[in-house]
Amino acid sequence: MLDTRPLLRDVLPEALAPLLVQLGEPAWRGRQLSAWLHRSRALQWETMTDLPRALRLRLADAYDLQGLKALERRISTDGTRKHLFELRDGATIESVIIPMEGHFTFCLSSQVGCAMACRFCATARGGLARGLSMGEILEQVVHLERDLAADPPTTRGQRAGNLVFMGMGEPLDNWEGLAGSIATLTAAAGGGISHRRITISTSGPREGLRRLMRLPQSVGLTLSVNAASPELRRRLMPIPGRTPLPVLLRFGERWARRIHRKTTLGYVLIAGVNDDLAEARLLARLAAGRPFKVNLIPLNRFDDDGLAPPGVDRVLAFQQVLLQSGVQTFIRASGGQDIDAACGQLRRRRLGSRSGRLA
Ligand code: SAH
Repeated sequence: MLDTRPLLRDVLPEALAPLLVQLGEPAWRGRQLSAWLHRSRALQWETMTDLPRALRLRLADAYDLQGLKALERRISTDGTRKHLFELRDGATIESVIIPMEGHFTFCLSSQVGCAMACRFCATARGGLARGLSMGEILEQVVHLERDLAADPPTTRGQRAGNLVFMGMGEPLDNWEGLAGSIATLTAAAGGGISHRRITISTSGPREGLRRLMRLPQSVGLTLSVNAASPELRRRLMPIPGRTPLPVLLRFGERWARRIHRKTTLGYVLIAGVNDDLAEARLLARLAAGRPFKVNLIPLNRFDDDGLAPPGVDRVLAFQQVLLQSGVQTFIRASGGQDIDAACGQLRRRRLGSRSGRLA
C-alpha cells in the first residue's frame, strides 16, 4: 500500500521544535531530532535511543523516516558508485558517489525524470514524473554517506566532500525541494555543511533563473550550455534553449560576482553535432574575459540513437580553441562508463529502453 505519511526529513530543521512542542515535548528536543536526521543519518526510529519511546511511536504515527529503498548498487572500476533507489510510490532515482582527488562528490537527483527534453540525455526520454520532496533529496545524502561509512574505499580519503545537483532532473524546475534541501544541508541546526561545498547544475530554464537569484546561499553554479549557436542549442535543449544564451551567460556572470567564484559552463561534446571548431570559436568569444571556466564532457552514449562522443583529437582541438582565447577549460572524463553512470542511464536500462532520436 502506498505510504501517505510525509517524511520527517520533509520538515525544515527550524520547524521541528514547534512540532515537538505541539506534541507536548520541550523545544530542545527539536535539535536532538534534527541531529538524528541530518548528522547521525538515522533511518530507523529504534536507533534514536535518547528520545522517549512514546515520542518515537507518536512521530512514527505521523511521519515516515525512510523514503528511499536501495534497489541496486554498482561500483565502477574507476571507483564511481552508483545507487538506484525506489521511492515509496515505486518511482526510481539515481545518486552517484564520484571519487575525486582526496574526497568524494555526491551527485544528487532533484526530480523523477525531467521536463527539459534534452536530446542527448537519458533522463529526458521518459519525461517528468514529479519533483523530489526535500526529504527525498536529503535522504540521498544519508544513504551515500552510509555507503562510504560501511564500505570505506581503500585508495582515497573517505571524506564526503561536495554535493552537486547534477543527477536526474532539472533542479530549478523543483524549487521547493532544491531550496529546502540546500537550506537544511547548510543550516547549523541541520547538516552544517558549507554552502561552498554545494553546486547546482542547471540547463537554465528562465523562470528558474529568476528564482535562483533569490537563493540565500552562495552555492556554486554550473550552466549546461552544450551549444554556442542559438539554433543548435534550441535543437539540443528544446525547453532551456528558449533562454537566449546572452541572458543565460549574463546570469552566470552576476552569480560569479555574487559568490566570488567562477561560474562553470558545461558542454557535452557530441560528434558531428556540436563539436565543430566554429562552435568552439563562438563559445570562446562568449566566454573570454568573463568569470567563466568551461568543462568539456565527451558524450556518454546510452542508446543506439546514433549519437557518439567525438574522438580524442577533436576533443583536444576544441579545448585548444578555448584555451587560446584565454578561457580556462577542462576535459571531464565521464566516470563510471562501465556502470551506466551518466544521468538516468541505469534507471533507463532497468525500465527498458524506448528509442528516441535526434531530430
Ligand atoms: N538538468 C541539470 C542537471 C542534470 S544533467 C543540467 O542540465 O545541468 C547534468 C549534466 O549531465 C549536464 O551537464 C548534462 O548536460 C549532462 N549530460 C546529460 N546527458 C549526458 C550524456 N549522455 N553524456 C554526458 N553528459 C550528459
